[in-house]
Amino acid sequence: MFPIFKTKIKGLKKKFDLNNPKERKEYFGLKAGKEIKKLRDYFKKGNTFIAYLIGKKNSGKGTYSKMFAEIIDPGRVEHFSVGDMIREIDKELKDKKKRKELIDFLEKNYRGWSSIKELILALEKRSTKTLLPTELILALIKREIAKRKKKTLFIDGFPRDLDQINFTLFFRDLIGYRQDPDFFVLIGVPERVIDERIKHRRVCPVCQTSRNLKLFPTSKIEYDSKKKEFYLLCDNPQCKEVKLLPKEGDSLGIKPIKRRFKKDEKLIAQAASLYGIPKVFLRNSVPKSRALEFVDNYEITPEYSYQWLEREKKVVVKEKPWIILNDEKEGAYSLLAAPVALSLIKQITKVLNL
Ligand SMILES: [Zn+2]
Repeated sequence: MFPIFKTKIKGLKKKFDLNNPKERKEYFGLKAGKEIKKLRDYFKKGNTFIAYLIGKKNSGKGTYSKMFAEIIDPGRVEHFSVGDMIREIDKELKDKKKRKELIDFLEKNYRGWSSIKELILALEKRSTKTLLPTELILALIKREIAKRKKKTLFIDGFPRDLDQINFTLFFRDLIGYRQDPDFFVLIGVPERVIDERIKHRRVCPVCQTSRNLKLFPTSKIEYDSKKKEFYLLCDNPQCKEVKLLPKEGDSLGIKPIKRRFKKDEKLIAQAASLYGIPKVFLRNSVPKSRALEFVDNYEITPEYSYQWLEREKKVVVKEKPWIILNDEKEGAYSLLAAPVALSLIKQITKVLNL
């Protein structure tokens, strides 16, 4: 379902460090300068679009759309997360005045099968198991979008279930984006990639920067000789070399979200088979045997390993291409975020007929 996207350009020999913002900018300019200009002009003329991000949990929805915004036009493109919106509402409910405003809004705008009382209770007692009614989610998204200036939106977290797909057909009318193009962005990432991303994730307790001990370390790596383990220090100068820590439950990897994955897979397949709405396919991995033809080496996610030199009291860092088994059980490379965002830029230009 997910075609391999060619990001390799014949004759372009220059290499880039894609973790360096300056070099990343140059990379996008060289590989997609034409498309970037077209998209910027499109936004400058006051046009917008709505993109629905559909992919498994931790598949990089936020990363890709934020990188798109960063490259094209941060002032006009926004990543809209339904999960974040619900978390904000949690806070609103604790504030007496805001709580009343929310109830007033729902009384005027909500139509559905639950009473306002039941809705508030559902919002307050929300666990990951109980899904909020779709009619409520829609009313809340509408309220949130009406508060802002009209922007291009990457919507993350809607549709979340099969029954919500039908609502996307009429969604832009509902939020007052009637004439604006809309399309699905489907994301395909091998489960092994998501698993390792979670297992080796390290987060700064001060600035919340998220890194990865195996796949995306900071520049400062240290060794704890008592525990016999390597750890990362935060690069952010304001954090004063604080130690990055694993989050609770991360060592389990994808185990706790496996069941959710099955649902997401169905959702992706269902969205892909819908007529009348354009689709963009983002693919994270490339089979090893075909990588040379499609991508440049520096676009592939490296794997880092470390060695402790006792005498010198020094950590040696080793880097090599990371090889994983994809969902088809063949050896594959995982792409860095930049080349995937590059394919997003190129495909969106096409979908919009620019
Ligand atoms: Zn930090």
